[in-house]
Amino acid sequence: MLNDDQLLRYSRQLMVEDFDLAGQEALAGARVLVVGCGGLANPATLYLAGAGVGELVLADDDAVELSNLHRQVAFRRADVGQHKAEALKAQLLALNPEVSVQAHTLRVDADWLDREVAAASVVLDCTDNFATRQRINQACVIHRAPLVSGAAIRMDGQLAVFDLRQPDSACYACVYGDGTDGDLACSQAGIVGPVVGAIGTLQALAAIQVLQGKPLPASLRLFDGRTLSWREMRFHKDPTCPVCSRP
Ligand SMILES: [Zn+2]
Repeated sequence: MLNDDQLLRYSRQLMVEDFDLAGQEALAGARVLVVGCGGLANPATLYLAGAGVGELVLADDDAVELSNLHRQVAFRRADVGQHKAEALKAQLLALNPEVSVQAHTLRVDADWLDREVAAASVVLDCTDNFATRQRINQACVIHRAPLVSGAAIRMDGQLAVFDLRQPDSACYACVYGDGTDGDLACSQAGIVGPVVGAIGTLQALAAIQVLQGKPLPASLRLFDGRTLSWREMRFHKDPTCPVCSRP
């Protein structure tokens, strides 16, 4: 049950027909794992904390740098040099003290992911390297955890939801393979702030939809920031996928 303060705080989303009280309670009971605390996670977690997600678990081993601030808009100039996970936690609690936030300053490994993904209602991949993305996907396949994957570079963004609670769901590796192609960091290729912000924001929306049990189509959405346009590519489970189709 929501108290008066909560009814007021969440009133504008509760007015929305697709949201309702049961949807709000689903958010309050959820634990969201967010791997990476940069340009995707900044808006994603601000919106999730604002919306009233019960528990957020953050992981990142990086510190805030001056060159991050144009896109990692939850951070302030004074946060430079601080651990990203801790600095983000502070901002989320300032926004909504009712949300429980855990900040882990570490580079995630397979054991840590195995534990945390098992306890998560939904997982947001907000990282920027292919090897970690693959490890996150493997843990999500094992634990049948829904995975909301975002990526952005230069003027291009990508968003995909893998609802691995469904036995016929594709996984990240079905779509992207298991190679290391395309592992290009923002530090080398550059990134325009609102592009990564748009993708992170939609990761939050997709997570809310997943937590409220709304079906999302299995598709990869590609955003072109030059023309503000989207393309959609449907995908299917790969019967030869080495991650999710092993006998
Ligand atoms: Zn797969």
